[in-house]
Amino acid sequence: MQIIHVGTELTPVAKVGGLGDVLLGLSRELLRKGHSVRVILPKYDCLVTESVAHLQPVQTLSSQWEGKPMEMEVWKGEVESIPTTFLRSCHPKGYFDRECIYGSPDDTERFLHFCRMVYDYLTQTEEIPDILHLHDWQASALALLFREDPFYDPSIVFTIHNLAYQGITDPEAILSLGIEHLPPHLEDPKEKGKINLMKGGILYSDFLNTVSPSYAREILTPEGGKNLDAVLRSQEFKFQGILNGIDDRYWNPETDRYLTPHFSSRINPFHQEDRALFQNKTVLKDLLRQRVGLRLTNRPLIACVTRLVPQKGIDLIKHAIHYTISHGGQFLLLGTTNIPSIFEEFQQLQQELEEHPDAKIVLRSPEDLVHQIYAGADLFIVPSLFEPCGLTQLISLRYGTIPIVRATGGLKDTVFDVDHTENPEGANGFTFLDPTPSSLEEALERALQTWNQQPDRWQQLALQAMKMDYSWKRSCMEYLEAYAALLLRKAGVA
Ligand code: ADP
Repeated sequence: MQIIHVGTELTPVAKVGGLGDVLLGLSRELLRKGHSVRVILPKYDCLVTESVAHLQPVQTLSSQWEGKPMEMEVWKGEVESIPTTFLRSCHPKGYFDRECIYGSPDDTERFLHFCRMVYDYLTQTEEIPDILHLHDWQASALALLFREDPFYDPSIVFTIHNLAYQGITDPEAILSLGIEHLPPHLEDPKEKGKINLMKGGILYSDFLNTVSPSYAREILTPEGGKNLDAVLRSQEFKFQGILNGIDDRYWNPETDRYLTPHFSSRINPFHQEDRALFQNKTVLKDLLRQRVGLRLTNRPLIACVTRLVPQKGIDLIKHAIHYTISHGGQFLLLGTTNIPSIFEEFQQLQQELEEHPDAKIVLRSPEDLVHQIYAGADLFIVPSLFEPCGLTQLISLRYGTIPIVRATGGLKDTVFDVDHTENPEGANGFTFLDPTPSSLEEALERALQTWNQQPDRWQQLALQAMKMDYSWKRSCMEYLEAYAALLLRKAGVA
């Protein structure tokens, strides 16, 4: 099968959050299964080009924007062995020369422009895949462009990674794409006179999914549907929740490129020279503490790696920091944000805690430190108000770092409380239901107590967590089933 993914992130060359990891992990699993896969991204000026093998310009093509012709450069390379095409806009507005992936005031215009370039690239090179898989609102206008195209009709899959970001804009913006008439039903359900690009992806795709079964249920309700629940309910016949996985080669404590020493769930060596043993996790904990300036002491280390945005439970994160350090634990937060008020809030907290031996806040995101945190911490907290899937808890599990999560969305589908599950072999963390300080404290208290009082149980839990399979294997099969059903339908078989 030929599959093309169109999105705005790909780990490790253009990463903001989970979307980049999904494009990496899903693409590599599809390749492993023998399919032809390509990812198309904008050629951002902030691309980590060292991580693209054989990157080179291959051709210049014509495109159009706002009714005028323009040129674009097509670059190709391989990212972690995934064939990747980067489209470089030659438009004078320099849409992708902003030193950031998101956060420009003209983001909707930028990504509409990207969609037009992808459309022109695919149609001019006639590289029309069997499946065109679009990710989030930024890629959704491609569904509109192909629905208007009299010649090409790829099967379109649209994945909602986060319904909170919808691409709401003025109707004229869509006309810049070169579509002569505004396609019907694009009006935003709440903001009068505006159109909603996410809604376009929902309506004009052939298969629609989001990234966990629980989040799929939540967004069908008025409480979770961010004004699009009615539209989603109208498309339930093609809508599904497919749980994300993690790339088990990129996130692997036995081979992680950023770790020395490595570790595994083995506690005894298989071979004499076998050094990747579970005990090395404690060495990594001390190395991490030395790196960030936490004292070396016999205390549990709780970590949090997150984008600092309201969705992630900002107040609960702050509460967890204070609760942990006043109850005998250590806390390490690595957070980044493009919201200035939140940045200032955490910068202030960082200064307040500067001399504290048991708490550190890092407001940058070097990828090596991120890996060292997953490996070195004992616990990892994710107190999100909502969470489509969440990958950080899955990565933590792979590194034997026990998650404490709020039971919502994909967190609820992947973390099972050690004290409340009916299936002890599936238990892998601590959960709490209400997004309140007292509910969070209850889970934190249980976690800290278990670490302090039951070291053998803790080790057992960590080993059990590491052996769980949250790789892409199973979820990739679900996507393949959906792709295959679309192809059968197109062939008139189903
Ligand atoms: P989201 O996509 O909402 O940010 P996910 O849990 O789905 O959250 O994905 C998070 C991914 O992004 C993980 O790979 C995580 O390690 C990474 N990540 C999250 N926050 C940061 C950060 N501040 N710096 C670096 N990487 C981060």
